[in-house]
Amino acid sequence: MKAVASVLVVGASASGLSTVDALRRKGFTGGITVIGDEPHMPYDRPPLSKQILEGVWTPDRAQLRSEEMLGKLDAEFVLGEEAVALDVLERRVTTRSGREFGADAVVLATGVRPRELPGQAGLDGVFVMRSLEDSMNLRRRLLDQPKIVVVGEGVLGSEVSATARKMGADVTMTGPQSHPMSLQIGPMASQLLADVHTEKGVRLRLGVGVAELVREGNAVSGVRLETGEVLDAEVVVVSIGSVPATAWLVGSGLTLENGIVCNSSCLAADSIYAVGDVSRWYHNSMRRHFRLENRTNATDQAAVAADDILGIAHHYEPIPYFWTDQFDAKIQVHGAVGAGATAQIVEGDISTRRFVATYRTDDRVTGVLGWNMPKQTRLRRQEIVDDLESQFA
Ligand SMILES: Cc1cc2nc3c(=O)[nH]c(=O)nc-3n(C[C@H](O)[C@H](O)[C@H](O)COP(=O)(O)OP(=O)(O)OC[C@H]3O[C@@H](n4cnc5c(N)ncnc54)[C@H](O)[C@@H]3O)c2cc1C
Repeated sequence: MKAVASVLVVGASASGLSTVDALRRKGFTGGITVIGDEPHMPYDRPPLSKQILEGVWTPDRAQLRSEEMLGKLDAEFVLGEEAVALDVLERRVTTRSGREFGADAVVLATGVRPRELPGQAGLDGVFVMRSLEDSMNLRRRLLDQPKIVVVGEGVLGSEVSATARKMGADVTMTGPQSHPMSLQIGPMASQLLADVHTEKGVRLRLGVGVAELVREGNAVSGVRLETGEVLDAEVVVVSIGSVPATAWLVGSGLTLENGIVCNSSCLAADSIYAVGDVSRWYHNSMRRHFRLENRTNATDQAAVAADDILGIAHHYEPIPYFWTDQFDAKIQVHGAVGAGATAQIVEGDISTRRFVATYRTDDRVTGVLGWNMPKQTRLRRQEIVDDLESQFA
């Protein structure tokens, strides 16, 4: 067992908290400090674009742990402090206010930041969706049922479109792909998702890129597409992907390439780890690096890093999983279900909007997608595991 007496976590959200959780669960009794730039104790992001935005949950329901549970973790949370520099050799972090924190092991869990369109900063009526404040601010505007354009047809753009429409807004979703979430769920399911959105009244203006935001004074008034067409809007939500929050690590000596590059145990340098959305780790079996932006990964990867800190070495080799809820559709995805794979319905029926499909690539089951069939979807996941095991046996 390595002699680690103290751990410093940078990023007080899902993967940061999961690291603390895992360390304590495995018996680590040393000091733990968590630095977070948000003013909040760790909260969950999936409800931000769903229950919190819609107002069916109050913000406190997004808290990841009660005060009592946080107390039991016996960790010091330093909130509202942005880390601005890391000394890799000394394992020391400096914050914007000039404080310094050191530890035997440092875990970087800083997640991602929303990608922006040129000219969006400071423009009234333009929103992103990452933080609790983003969700609450957008909610306040949506209560007026405005005309809204959602730029981005990925998971987040589709979720925000669905929730805004449920709240009575006049919603248009736009983006370069032909269907909502087509990159994430492939042609069959994204066609069905397009049908669901259209039936519920979301206008889809897809298959075309955005040229620029149109402004009137200091407020947004629309979105100009690459065709020249302008979609009028009182509110624009920009949901065009995200970038790993690594700007503060430039010059630290860590390898930064679309995330913090790590080995298969999430180790970026000696006793420096990266977990969650920001981590780009080496998947041994797949023989390449991956970076995942989903909630399950935040927890699972943190557990692997915690193990490594405690001297329990193993490789992080997950089957990626994410879910999304839009209108009455609960979609769950295990593994890869993109355009390259062949889909086959194996449970239920697409016409009833309750089904499970498996996806094959090179005659192997590489993915499972469930639509309103959670239990059956979970069971079918095993087929991916079996095929993986037979491949690497
Ligand atoms: C609106 C929304 C909905 C989502 N819905 C789903 C879903 O339905 N299903 C699903 O699987 N996944 C979903 N996700 C993704 C999931 O929430 C993320 O994968 C997860 O939050 C990643 O956790 P993380 O701790 O790695 O990063 P984050 O949650 O981004 O946390 C990183 C933290 O570090 C802080 N930080 C950044 N830089 C610094 C710094 N220099 N100093 C100090 N602190 C810093 C950030 O402010 C933040 O608090 C959603 C994400 C969002 C935004």
